[in-house]
Amino acid sequence: MVTSAPRFQPELSDQDKRPARCPACGFDGPEASAPSNEAGFELLACPDCGLGRTWPPVPGDEISRWYPEQYYGRENVRFNPLFERLIRWFRRRRAAVLYNRVPRGPVLDVGCGRGLMLSYMRELGYEAHGLELSETAARHARNVLKLEVATGDFLNSPHEKNRYNAVIFCHTLEHFANPVAAIARAYELLKPGGVLWIAVPNYGSWQARLFGRFWFHIDAPRHYFHFTVWSLDALLQRHRFRVVQLDHYSFEQNPYGLLQSVLNAAGFRFNLLYSLLKNSTARTDTALRYPFQTAAHVLLLPLLVPFVVVATGLEALFKSGGTFEMYAFKE
Ligand SMILES: [Zn+2]
Repeated sequence: MVTSAPRFQPELSDQDKRPARCPACGFDGPEASAPSNEAGFELLACPDCGLGRTWPPVPGDEISRWYPEQYYGRENVRFNPLFERLIRWFRRRRAAVLYNRVPRGPVLDVGCGRGLMLSYMRELGYEAHGLELSETAARHARNVLKLEVATGDFLNSPHEKNRYNAVIFCHTLEHFANPVAAIARAYELLKPGGVLWIAVPNYGSWQARLFGRFWFHIDAPRHYFHFTVWSLDALLQRHRFRVVQLDHYSFEQNPYGLLQSVLNAAGFRFNLLYSLLKNSTARTDTALRYPFQTAAHVLLLPLLVPFVVVATGLEALFKSGGTFEMYAFKE
C-alpha cells in the first residue's frame, strides 16, 4: 500500500515572521532576494511558486505610519476630477461584472476604500458591507455614502460566519501581513457556494520580471506579499476553495502599471506621473518642483500610451497580465 506524505497545510499564525516554509506551496529552501526601491527593505521570493514578500515586514503597530492622511486625500478623494470620473466608471463596471456572478444578498468588501464599488453594488440590490483599516479610510464610505463599514482587523472583525454571498479583496489581500489567515477568515464568513473574488498584482508577470524594483505595483512595504497565479491558486485550494475563473486583463490596472514602470525605469522621479494625476490634497510631488520632468512626460505620453495598450493586450494573451483576478467558490 502506498501512503502519501501528509498534505502541506500552511500555518495560520506567524506569517508575518519568517516562516520555515513557503506559506503557499510548502517549499522549505532558501528564498531568492531582490532589491526594493524603498530603503531598508528587500523582496524575497519562493523559487518554487514565486510567492514574494517584503522583508522585513512592517510590524502591525507601525504600519499606519505608511498610510498618512495624504495617502487617502481630502474626503478620500485622491485624483484630479478627470481621473475621478474614470475611477467611478471603473468601479461601476466592476460592480456590474460582479452582478452577473454573485446572487443578491450580503456581500463584504475587505478594504473597501471610500466605498465606491460597494455603493454601486447597493444600487444593484446587494446588502453592502465594508471593512477598512482605519477611521480615516472609512470616513467617506460612512459619512457620505452612508455605507456600513467596520474598521479594524479583518481577522477579528464583527462579521457573522457563513453569511456572505461574496467576499471581495480588490487589491487589498497583498496589504495583509498574514494573507493565509485572511483567506481562512474569508472562507469562514462565506456561505457555502459563496464567491471569493480577489484582484492582486501579478508578481510573476512580464511587467514584474522586467522592471523589478521599478515596477509600479510593488508598493513595498505596504504590500507585505506579492502573489503569482500559482501561489494564490495553491493558497485557495488549500483552503478548500474551488477556483473557477482567472482573468489576466484589467484595463483599470495593467496599462497604467506598465506606463508608470517604464517611466520609473527611465530614471524619472519615482511615480511622478501618479503623483501629478492626484489632486492637491494627495499629491506628494508637483509639476512646479519637477518642471523639466513634467514637460518630458507631456512629450513622451503620446508615444507611450499606444505602446502600453498593445503590450498589455499581449501580456494578457500570454496569461502574464500585470495584475490578475481570481474567482473561487466556497465548496
Ligand atoms: Zn512557494
